[in-house]
Amino acid sequence: MAPDPDKALNALRRLAANKVCGSCPYEERMGFKDVCMKYKIFVCSDCKSAHQAFSHRCKSVTMSNWSMAEVDELRQENGGGNAVNRATIFARLPEGAKRPMKGCHPDDMKAFIQEAYNDMRWFDANGQAPTAAPEVQRTATMQPPTRTPSQPSAPPVVHAKSAPPPSGDAHPHTHPHPKPKPKPNPRRKRKPKPKASPSPNPSPNPSPGTGDLFGDFDAAPSASSNGWASFE
Ligand SMILES: [Zn+2]
Repeated sequence: MAPDPDKALNALRRLAANKVCGSCPYEERMGFKDVCMKYKIFVCSDCKSAHQAFSHRCKSVTMSNWSMAEVDELRQENGGGNAVNRATIFARLPEGAKRPMKGCHPDDMKAFIQEAYNDMRWFDANGQAPTAAPEVQRTATMQPPTRTPSQPSAPPVVHAKSAPPPSGDAHPHTHPHPKPKPKPNPRRKRKPKPKASPSPNPSPNPSPGTGDLFGDFDAAPSASSNGWASFE
């Protein structure tokens, strides 16, 4: 019996690496229904549209006919799949860089696809795809803070130059406005009638500095909200 391309394709789209869109950070737990054949990646519907805008050929997992040869092209061992793409096309994209995601304005996505694929801005042909899930890389970078003892390592701040897009919830992961801490409430006891000797009561001073731990994330003005094109 000949192997079933549809079955093989379905198995591929459910691989962990292929459940994160090949071009944006969107994750689809069931796997994506579109493939950009030019880059051999599984993509979300928004990225598919953006790729198609540049005539990057796309196919539907469910609506198109697939040959086994086409499916095999998407395998990592053959240089296909989202992990390889991530390691090459996005090799030089700084970790934590702000990227448009499914649900964003189509122009933002197109600008990003243009930059990544047509201009190959972050491309590195020698990028190595991890064999396992991409999260492995992240844990590998965790190390004891011995290198810079003088400075406490700040959390990586993904800086958003642009304001959130007008269409609401496109970037749910980047919340530019951290919840302000409630002001320390100096609840001093006021005794209306000091009966006896007024106790000196060394009430601890609520220091204003400590409330600021998370306050400076959005220090830069996010005034020029002209979309995402001015990225970096
Ligand atoms: Zn996408």
